Order: sequence, then C-alpha cells, then structure tokens
Amino acid sequence: MGDINRVVIVGAGQGGAEAATQLRTRGFAGEITLVGEERLPPYQRPPLSKKFLLGELEEDRLPFRPAEVYEEERITLILGHRCTWIDRVGKRVRMDGGRELPYDALILATGAKPRALPVPGADLPGVFTLRTATDVDEIRPRFTPGAKLVVIGAGYIGLEVAAVGRQSGLDVTVLEAMPRPLARVTAPEVAGFFLDYHTRKGVKFVLGGKAAVIKGEGAVRAVGLTDGSEIPADIVIVGIGVDPDISLAEKAVLAVGDGIVTDRFCRTSDPAIYAIGDCASRPLVHYGRTARLESVHNAIEGGKIAAAMITGTKPPDEELPWFWSDQYELKLTIAGLFAGYDRIVHRGSMEEASFACFYYLGDRLLAVDAVNRPAEYLGAKQVIQRGRTIEPAALQDMSKSMKEIVAATR
Ligand code: FAD
Repeated sequence: MGDINRVVIVGAGQGGAEAATQLRTRGFAGEITLVGEERLPPYQRPPLSKKFLLGELEEDRLPFRPAEVYEEERITLILGHRCTWIDRVGKRVRMDGGRELPYDALILATGAKPRALPVPGADLPGVFTLRTATDVDEIRPRFTPGAKLVVIGAGYIGLEVAAVGRQSGLDVTVLEAMPRPLARVTAPEVAGFFLDYHTRKGVKFVLGGKAAVIKGEGAVRAVGLTDGSEIPADIVIVGIGVDPDISLAEKAVLAVGDGIVTDRFCRTSDPAIYAIGDCASRPLVHYGRTARLESVHNAIEGGKIAAAMITGTKPPDEELPWFWSDQYELKLTIAGLFAGYDRIVHRGSMEEASFACFYYLGDRLLAVDAVNRPAEYLGAKQVIQRGRTIEPAALQDMSKSMKEIVAATR
C-alpha cells in the first residue's frame, strides 16, 4: 500500500461507493473521504426510470447501503458538496465553501450529465432530464392519468420512461430524430421489435423528427418540430444522451477525450489520480479498443480496479460489458458490444416476446441482446468472456437448450 494514507473519492454514485467499499474490503486502513453533491447517500440510478418512477419502489430502497454503514467502516461521507478544484502539485481537492481535502490517491467518479435540448423554451417549467432522484421527485407528481407526455429521444432511458408513462395512464409520444428508436445501441430488428411493442401499448412515435422549440407561456404547452408541426405536451422528458462530467479533470489538465482517459487499471495521466465509471474511458480487453461505457457493470468494475491498484491487491479479471433495460414486462439483457457486426442470428420468437439476437463478425460472436431469455444472455456472455464462439447453426436448433449449446463450444 506504500505511502497511501488518504484516499479522496469525488462523486458518491455507483462507482465512487464501490471504490470506497472495496478499499476497506481490500484491507486499506487509512482515511477514505467520499464527496458527493447530491443529498442522498450513494444510490442506484437504474430504478429512476423504472420502478421508482412508477412508484413501486420507495426512496429509502434506492441507496446501496444506509449512511451509518459508511460511518461504521470509517468512510467519511460528505454529501451536498461539490469539489471544484484539484491541486495536483499540493495533492489537495477543494470543495465549494473552500474546505480542502488532502489526498495521497484521488479517485474521480463524477459520472455524466444529461445533455440539454439546445432549443428555445427548453428551460420552461415542465421540461426535465432524468438523472437523479430529485429529478424523479419533480417529475412524478406530473405523471397523472391523461397528462400528455412527450419523450424526446428514444434511447433506453427514453423508452423506459415511455413505458412507465403508459403504465401510469399518460398519453405518451416519443420524438426521435433518427428514423428508428435505439438507433445507437441496437440493430434495426431489435429496434423494430421495441417500436411495435410500445406502439401496441399505445405509445405514439414521431421518428425522423427534430424538436425546434418548446412552446408555452409560463409552462410547457407543446413541442414544435422543425417541419412546423406541434406535439401537445404537459410534460417533456429529454433523454438525448449524456456527456461525461470531466470539468474537474479538464481544469486539472488531465488527459481527456470522450471522458477522462485511463489505462486498463483506471490510472489517469497523473499517477496519483484514478478515474472510473461514466466519466472515464478505458481500454476494453475483450474488444481491443478504448471506450467510455455508461453502465452499472462498468462503474462497479472501475471501483474494484481502482481500489485494487491503491491497495496493491489483485484487480478483478475484466468482465464482458453487460447492461439491461426493463420496459413493461420485457427484460432486455445485453452482453458484449455489438458495434462492427456483419450478421445477426436469431433464436426464439419475437412474436412471443422471448428471443435473442446474436451479433457476429465473421465467425466471431461479439454480443447478444436477449429479451426475456436469461439463459441465452448468460450463455453467450460466458462464451464470449472465454474468448470462444458459438456455431450459428447450433443456436437455431431449438431442440437444444442454451446450456447444451454452450457446453458444446470449443
Ligand atoms: P454516477 O452514479 O452518476 O455518480 C456520479 C456522482 O458524482 C453523482 O452523484 C454526481 O452528482 C457526483 N459528482 C459529479 N461531479 C462532482 C463533483 N465535482 N463533486 C461532488 N460530486 C460530484 N445502467 C445499467 O447498467 N442498467 C440500467 O438499467 C441503467 N439504467 C439507468 C437509468 C437511469 C435513469 C440513469 C440515469 C442511468 C442508468 N444506468 C443504467 C446507468 C448507470 O446508472 C450509470 O452508468 C452509473 O450510475 C454510473 O456510475 P458513476 O459512479 O460513474 O456515476
């Protein structure tokens, strides 16, 4: 553990909390300070666009652990404060209000910020982004039956919000600039499935349409499109992606690109500073390239790796990236990254909402999207993780279980 006695973690979200916990688990006995600008102790974000928005999960179920547990583990949790500056030479972090925190090792886990819609009226009351529990507190009272919800952006969060909107009895329209939903994150076949499913649930889609203005006097009334048409709205939720929060790193002149640049071990261009989670881009061992991922898996893994490096313990073997999305009764699970695929092999039935799409590049299995098919998700994940592949014909043989297919892979 060398001379590291004080670790400061900036950002008390998924990655920051994991790093703090892992430091203790891995035997670090020194000071740990975890600073976060939000009011809640570190909490899970995925329910924000799912059960928490739906009102099926209480706020006290969001945090990973009660605040007292941090105290018991001698992790100093400072909430409601933002770190504003890093003095790399003096190895200190300054918080708003001027207090300074000296560090021997610093972990940046600052997450990402939702992109604002760059049109007039985007600041009208009734227009929201969704990143924090506080956002949901403001949104939820407006989720009343019959209210007109316009979701701008048909990514996973946008579609999850649309599903919750319908489940709550709202009149929901999704506006998407691309010709199909989920354009950045999945194949046209899978996107088509989700489009049909939502449409059957009563969601209206305006695809290939761009918001030009949010209209309203004192509160949102409609979304105006570039073609002059209008979608009436009582509430607008903008889900057009996020940008990594690299403001501290930029000011400290750390290497940044799409996120704070790190090596495989989450080390930034300053040997005393690590960056993890949504704010960082890291080499992906399974794909031979660097990327910035926005997922629970990536934040947890980064927390473990940074803690391992600081404590001189063995870092975990990197897991294949994974993700999930819940919409209505659909559980989508994704393993691997599909970019660069040249062929898709289907297994199961889209009509029955129980299928998996396997993405191949030549003979190599790259990724799987599985809807209500956990065995296909887990099997493909295991195979890719081991650097193996599955014969496409084997996948189409429904007389064989996924377990048998995986067992037969070389
Ligand atoms: P965060 O969890 O965002 O934490 C960063 C924290 O740092 C924030 O609290 C921020 O306020 C704070 N912070 C930033 N700068 C400072 C500063 N200077 N000083 C103090 N504090 C600071 N992933 C999945 O895998 N599956 C899902 O189904 C899924 N659903 C999601 C649904 C929603 C609505 C959202 C928003 C995200 C979802 N994600 C999902 C993504 C996942 O939650 C994130 O990838 C994960 O939270 C990233 O963890 P992080 O620690 O990098 O950032």
